[in-house]
Amino acid sequence: MIIAERKPVNEIVEMVRDATRILVLGCRGCVSVCSAGGEREVELLCSLIRLGKQKAGQKSELTGATLVRQCDKEYVDEIDQWQGKYDVIVSMACGVGVNFIANLRPLDKVYPAVNTTFFGGSAGQGVWSEQCAGCGDCVLHLTGGLCPVARCAKSLMNGPCGGSVGGRCEIHSEVLCIWQAIHDRLSRFACQEDLARIAPIRDWRSAGHGGPRKSVRGDLSL
Ligand code: SF4
Ligand code: SF4
Repeated sequence: MIIAERKPVNEIVEMVRDATRILVLGCRGCVSVCSAGGEREVELLCSLIRLGKQKAGQKSELTGATLVRQCDKEYVDEIDQWQGKYDVIVSMACGVGVNFIANLRPLDKVYPAVNTTFFGGSAGQGVWSEQCAGCGDCVLHLTGGLCPVARCAKSLMNGPCGGSVGGRCEIHSEVLCIWQAIHDRLSRFACQEDLARIAPIRDWRSAGHGGPRKSVRGDLSL
C-alpha cells in the first residue's frame, strides 16, 4: 500500500491561513490502513486546525468527511454535496488523491495534509517499511522476491557494494543489506545461477525517468 504521514499541524494551519471554511477530506484507502488519513485522523485534524486557527486569532468552520477513495472520479464527484460550503479542501489522501481533486475540480483549492512517503507494508505495530519503488520493470523473479531497487540504498542491480557489515547495510545500519538477504534466499533455493547473471544496463524510463507514466489496459478500456 501507499504509506503516508500527516504533516505537522503548524504547516497545515499555515496553508489554510486565508481560509475560514475548510473541508478536511479523508480517504478509506491506504492512508486509512496506515492511520494517516482515515476517519479518525480527519476528526483529529479538524480539532487541531480549529485550535490552531483559534490560537492565531482566526475564524474557522471545519467540515470533516471521508471518501471511499480519492483516486477515482466516481468518489471524488461526491464532493459536490459540499459545493459552496468550503473555501479550501485539505486532503488527507496520498498525493494521488490531491492530484485527482486538482485535475477534476479546477475551481477548488486543494492542499495536502500528509506527506506521501513510499510503497510498503506493516513491519509491526505503528511501523511500515518500504518494499517496492514502482520501477515498472520488476526483477523479483531473479532476486528471491526481495527488491534491490527499493531496498538497497544504492539500488544496485548486480550484487552488493561490498560495504555491508554483519549483514547490515553500510548506509543504513538499522536495515539488512538486501543483497546479503537476496544471496541467502537464492542459496537456500539453490538458485545461485541467478546471482551469477549480470543484469543488462537498465532502461529507467519505466521507473518514471522518462516522464509521467500511464498504464493502458486495452482489455478494460471502453
Ligand atoms: S523491482 Fe521494481 S516493481 Fe519489482 S518490487 Fe522492486 S521497485 Fe517494485
Ligand atoms: S550494503 Fe547492501 S543494501 Fe546497503 S548499499 Fe551496499 S549493497 Fe545496498
